[in-house]
Amino acid sequence: MNTMNKSRFMTRTATASALASILLLSACSGGGGGSAASKKQDPNGKVTLNFITQSSAIAPADPNDKLVNKRLEEKTNVHINWKNFTNDVFVEKRNLAVASGDLPDAIFNADYSDYELLKLAKDGSIIPLNDLIDQYMPNFKKVLEEAPEYKSMITAPDGKIYAFPWIEELGNGKERIQAVDSMPWINVEWLKKLNLKMPTTTEELKKVLIAFKTQDPNGNGQADEIPLSFINKPGAEDLAFLFASFGLGENPDHAVVSNDGKVIFTAADEGYKKAVSFVNELYKEGLIDIEAYTQDWSTYLAKGKDQKYGLYFSWDKANITGANESYEVMPPLAGPDGEINVTRTNGLGLGRGKMVVTSANKNLETTAKWVDQLYDPTQSVQDNWGTYGDDKQQNIFEYDEASNMLKHLPLEGTAPVELREKTSIGGPLAILDSYYGKYTTMPDDAKGRMDIIKNIMAPHMKADNVMPSVFNSIEELDRLTTIETDLFAYVLRMRTEWYQNGKINEQWDGYLKELDRLGLQEWLKIKQGGYDRATKG
Ligand code: CA
Repeated sequence: MNTMNKSRFMTRTATASALASILLLSACSGGGGGSAASKKQDPNGKVTLNFITQSSAIAPADPNDKLVNKRLEEKTNVHINWKNFTNDVFVEKRNLAVASGDLPDAIFNADYSDYELLKLAKDGSIIPLNDLIDQYMPNFKKVLEEAPEYKSMITAPDGKIYAFPWIEELGNGKERIQAVDSMPWINVEWLKKLNLKMPTTTEELKKVLIAFKTQDPNGNGQADEIPLSFINKPGAEDLAFLFASFGLGENPDHAVVSNDGKVIFTAADEGYKKAVSFVNELYKEGLIDIEAYTQDWSTYLAKGKDQKYGLYFSWDKANITGANESYEVMPPLAGPDGEINVTRTNGLGLGRGKMVVTSANKNLETTAKWVDQLYDPTQSVQDNWGTYGDDKQQNIFEYDEASNMLKHLPLEGTAPVELREKTSIGGPLAILDSYYGKYTTMPDDAKGRMDIIKNIMAPHMKADNVMPSVFNSIEELDRLTTIETDLFAYVLRMRTEWYQNGKINEQWDGYLKELDRLGLQEWLKIKQGGYDRATKG
């Protein structure tokens, strides 16, 4: 996963100074006076809850300064006494607070991994939430009824739910925004200059790239064009998109699911062999950027900005070659057998460990009811992206009372991620695909990408299933991590060697044996078990 690309739809960045967090700490410990005791003293019956949270360095230091939280306090009569840390120090501070035993009532924007959730549950630091959901959370229950697949995804193998999730859908199924990670962007100015058509097959692509290399499409008299570039590791800048023309294709997890529900390791498939051989053909023609194996994001970006590439890969072309018309998405190509396929990624907008309730919490009913408000559709939209009617702050929305809908306002040059970080609160929430056009409009920066996926990619996706986000047990997580460390590194190393030396056919049998030695069969068994559990749910 490339966070640089994905983060535009999330609220996480880590750029704060340590100083800011020290100031915050002292500010927080001084004020508030929030404990369960204050509940009795408040004549209005207002309950105070103590939460630890994190936010961006550009957000207000006190989350209660955000209009979304002010309105929530008014609505719920619950005061949250926040201990807020900037993203860069949060994990350390969160872990310190829990280790010291001085537990808050809850941890908001907790971002715990599955392994951490299970460990905290075992230690008794956090509590299962199933009963609270059943008794006090009608909004959240409604989400799980409308999108029941999330129920199994957030449920631990012991049947317990240990955290409230963050769910952000933009499209669903084959049309979800994450369905294709690495998009191929081709230089259409060069195509036009050389009077070439958009390639439709892998052979045509090869010819186009050779023309880019040899016919000086940028017209400067030098052979300075880079026909094909990518960053050679799993992620949005990888050329894995091309693999699908030869069979099942590839995604960053090396995991696809057959239409009869069988988990398949992509890098041991026959089609994978043909795809790697094709890349070797391109290599032999001198079409691949010599820096593809070593370059980092900034090198990749610099050449992209200079429009040196014939074809390159990225989540969004705007990140690399800019929001201009020089590049267009290259539709999926037919392979040697005439078949077109687009491999789906397993990515989705789900943060499983977004909020936990600790064993120190004495106001469980109040806490559950407060969290349930966050799952109200109109509230969730504001939690995630920001709000309307703020006279001190640029607004991301206007609220249309007649239709009860939040409508995105023009950004007027403001970076969407920055405005979201300043005004949204994140945390547990759910935005389902059905909400667009009903409770909110879709963010503009998502729309263009969604259209490409819907119109150009999805019609060619052969796989009906993807690997769901499986909640594995501690033992399984231990084994998966251990196996993947060596297995995935070996796959990448061999793929890279074969791109350059073309010896995949001779070395294939030995490679398959080595995959087994590194634990592939056990990996498949754990993955299949998880898939079966998740899809039965
Ligand atoms: Ca040139």
